[in-house]
Amino acid sequence: MEWAANARKSHFELGFVPTMGALHQGHIDLAKRAKAKNDLLVCSIFVNPIQFNNPEDLKKYPRDLERDLQRLQTIDCDAVFCPDEEEIYPEPVTTKYDFGHVDKVMEGKYRQGHFNGVAIVVNKLFDIVQPHRAYFGEKDFQQLQIIKALVKKEKKEVEVIACPTVRESDGLAMSSRNARLNPLQRKEAAKIFETLEGAKKRFGFMSPRAIKKWVEQEINASSELKLEYFEIVDAENLLPLEKTDPDFPVVGCIAVNAGEVRLIDNIFLNV
Ligand code: AMP
Repeated sequence: MEWAANARKSHFELGFVPTMGALHQGHIDLAKRAKAKNDLLVCSIFVNPIQFNNPEDLKKYPRDLERDLQRLQTIDCDAVFCPDEEEIYPEPVTTKYDFGHVDKVMEGKYRQGHFNGVAIVVNKLFDIVQPHRAYFGEKDFQQLQIIKALVKKEKKEVEVIACPTVRESDGLAMSSRNARLNPLQRKEAAKIFETLEGAKKRFGFMSPRAIKKWVEQEINASSELKLEYFEIVDAENLLPLEKTDPDFPVVGCIAVNAGEVRLIDNIFLNV
């Protein structure tokens, strides 16, 4: 990306927000944070085919480039990188990352190959854009840990900035996939965050095992929702928590299916 190389040569600091488009306020919040702390803001829009383990999910992933570009213009985004597949993958990819435990559990377990696809594309995007800082949402908590591990492994000179989850007024985490929910599913989806807050209230009083059971019952009580997993893990290494009174940050991570739409969210349980 010549523009980025020139900007760097001119000693401008670049803030980068990689996205898959269908932008919502969560993405815009990341972009605004990047704009505020850097000389220039670069966003990318690329629906990365190799991170989808489900072809139907890739086909149905919402896309609206024109609207995305308009939204980015309103916040004075300095450059938008919208590569096509050929540009990112001129040849078939064979890289296989191993991040240890972090890529094997939760999303890694239920979406085989997903994080390998994420790591490959983010590594390529970092090479192309060469940002000083890159902004990622805590909404995808496990992905954030993968990106931090990737930066270490590939010795990238980029600072990874974690940004808090932006929510709808009823607590549902904003996601491009929310647009695929029917009105009833959308209403019921608010129970995901409500249940996470309930888990947080119970943390320290009930065992992790009992909280997991409670979350399962709460979510599955809705006819529209089906729990895939709820895990209580050490926020740093994502190892499952055994004790009730840890002296390190603990996060509860959830994946729920609402019909064909898969939603993820998380909450810090003790901070
Ligand atoms: P995506 O387009 O879904 O790949 O997301 C691009 C970036 O936006 C990732 O770093 C996500 O974690 C982040 N993101 C997505 N939804 C939210 C949200 N509701 N709040 C904060 N960040 C988000």
